[in-house]
Amino acid sequence: MINQLIRWRPPLSKTFLSTESGKNGHGEILGFKTIIKPSNESVKRHYQKLSETIKRFNAAPQVKLIKELNPIIKGWCNYFKSVCSKEIFSGLYNLTHIRIRRWADRRHPNKNKHWVTNKYWTTRGNDNWVFGCKYKDNTFELIKHPRIAITRHTKVKGTKSPYDGDSLYWAKRQGKHPELKDPIAKMLKRQEGKCNWCQLTFQEGDAIEDDHIIAKKAGGNNSLNNRQLLHKHCHDEKTRDDLKAIKAYKQEKEWQLLTKWFDKQNWIWVDDIPTLVTSHGTHKEPDCRGAV
Ligand SMILES: [Zn+2]
Repeated sequence: MINQLIRWRPPLSKTFLSTESGKNGHGEILGFKTIIKPSNESVKRHYQKLSETIKRFNAAPQVKLIKELNPIIKGWCNYFKSVCSKEIFSGLYNLTHIRIRRWADRRHPNKNKHWVTNKYWTTRGNDNWVFGCKYKDNTFELIKHPRIAITRHTKVKGTKSPYDGDSLYWAKRQGKHPELKDPIAKMLKRQEGKCNWCQLTFQEGDAIEDDHIIAKKAGGNNSLNNRQLLHKHCHDEKTRDDLKAIKAYKQEKEWQLLTKWFDKQNWIWVDDIPTLVTSHGTHKEPDCRGAV
């Protein structure tokens, strides 16, 4: 029993950070997709944000709603305009229009659609659906997603990451990432835009995940020092290692419990075997199951 437990004891300091490249089952280094487009998730999140804002402003004046929505639309479109297909922009515009239409109709349940249209929409050139109004001598109009010119930039260079905080490079590409949360931004900066597992630079369209360097179930905490960003597929690989670490951690805990219990006992070494001393003399292989 004791010998078995000693064999279980994991190395005391094991670093779970690997600098090796992630490899697949055939030993080839795993690449990553360089799909240059926003993920469906990102499109969905953007629409949800618009939708929630419209809902939140259901009693606010039109100008307030426009002022609130425009920066959201502009920020998202500017960031993705170089990488986004026209269809995505048109789709987002259509969805937003439906939501705005409902916003307007609900405010005037006793008026017909024509009246509501005339109140909130105006005409510019041959566009009859400009959601806009005048306010203190200024004109406010809701930005339409497809209106933000689709300009194809040179692709993000392979060694450059949109996330590496290289301000000069980014300045050229304009706009900040609209969805980057602060801890994520910090980690990206610390990792210089690279995945800590495969050391490859994150690219737009990569699935990136927030990982606990030492798994929480293996005693790791939630602080930023114990977190890192990994590609999803790299994260999957690391999770397999985590499972081993969690097992080792549990065994270490059991070992600690056992030694604690053992220290309290009256024992001596007999032929390199710890042996309990009882009132009736000594006997080998103490039964310590109760302590674990
Ligand atoms: Zn990776």
